Amino acid sequence: MAVAVGRPASDDLRNLSLSGHVGFDSLPDQLVNKSTSQGFCFNILCVGETGIGKSTLMDTLFNTKFESEPATHNEPGVRLKARSYELQESNVRLKLTIVDTVGFGDQINKDDSYKPIVEYIDAQFEAYLQEELKIKRSLFNYHDTRIHACLYFIAPTGHSLKSLDLVTMKKLDSKVNIIPIIAKADTIAKNELHKFKSKIMSELVSNGVQIYQFPTDEETVAEINATMSVHLPFAVVGSTEEVKIGNKMAKARQYPWGVVQVENENHCDFVKLREMLIRVNMEDLREQTHTRHYELYRRCKLEEMGFKDTDPDSKPFSLQETYEAKRNEFLGELQKKEDEMRQMFVMRVKEKEAELKEAEKDLHEKFDHLKRTHQEEKKKVEDKKKELEEELNNFQKKKAAAQLLQSQAQQAGSQQTKKDKDKKKWPE
Ligand code: GDP
Repeated sequence: MAVAVGRPASDDLRNLSLSGHVGFDSLPDQLVNKSTSQGFCFNILCVGETGIGKSTLMDTLFNTKFESEPATHNEPGVRLKARSYELQESNVRLKLTIVDTVGFGDQINKDDSYKPIVEYIDAQFEAYLQEELKIKRSLFNYHDTRIHACLYFIAPTGHSLKSLDLVTMKKLDSKVNIIPIIAKADTIAKNELHKFKSKIMSELVSNGVQIYQFPTDEETVAEINATMSVHLPFAVVGSTEEVKIGNKMAKARQYPWGVVQVENENHCDFVKLREMLIRVNMEDLREQTHTRHYELYRRCKLEEMGFKDTDPDSKPFSLQETYEAKRNEFLGELQKKEDEMRQMFVMRVKEKEAELKEAEKDLHEKFDHLKRTHQEEKKKVEDKKKELEEELNNFQKKKAAAQLLQSQAQQAGSQQTKKDKDKKKWPE
């Protein structure tokens, strides 16, 4: 008998009642136990100017002292510094990574300040994607460094957001869960703070910046998340200093005119931030990072690499088909390149041949010309030689005639002298 293999249509699902306890109601407990034994990863990115209170707030949030040395304002550019810690509360282990933006806002030209941050976030996504694409994956014990929450520290100016803030948040909003916070909120008056908060929120909306929305779809957290959203951006104060208030010690900042208590909700929104970031929405932040931001990165990256789920006719396209299509495309391109190169080679050879022929022709012409001039020169020299020989002959002839004349003259001379002598001997 043939058995249909595949997914049952939803109409095929029937509700059945159990006649006794089976035990799969312990599945959530099994999940909790497994997750607890594995431990959790949570990664926070703090974006804000140097000295705005990032390190202090982290120390205050986690009730500890993370190692951090104050940065100078002389950094040539923005650089990200990540530090990981193991924390334990009850039996839950948390691998926490805090990433600081060193030198943010310290340069005269801040046009590229967002780039190292974007690059860092993408690099963490890329590392995860590479692990996922490996044949031998080990995502089970993979140290996930993807950023789950980005705390954006806004300076307590009371005016509006700086363009650097808007540009940076806009560049980050599709990559990370942004939670905007007003830093050092003790330095701003209460009525100004109210206006400042609504100004910031309206600026974010008008510039299309998407910040992290506290989830309201789950019953248990819907109410608290809905009420907390109204207080965004949280105005926070950080301090690890303990001050005696009444008969209790509390974290606070002490001023000549009074004390600002960090955990007093009338003084600032620190508790709201801690509730939202850690106690209520930590898992949602992790999930959103994986299902929204990482998914977007992964999709773009895989599409860039040529993978797709459907063919042009919207029919499902398997990985094998993608591979084949990509391989054929690659081979086609290779063949095209090879043909192009061959054609180019033939063309070059022809060009070179023509060049050589031209050069040969030139050489021949030069040779003929030289030959001609040589013959002309030779003829000239021969003519000259003939002329000179004739001159020499004439000269020889003249010389012989002259010598003859001279000897004749001498002979005539000597006969005359003899006659004269004879005359003297025998006078007549
Ligand atoms: P970072 O460079 O952003 O990490 O800033 P730090 O945490 O090192 O803080 C810089 C200075 O600001 C320190 O002197 C802190 O004591 C002070 N500071 C931190 N948080 C607050 C705050 O909430 N209010 C006020 N007034 N000062 C703060």
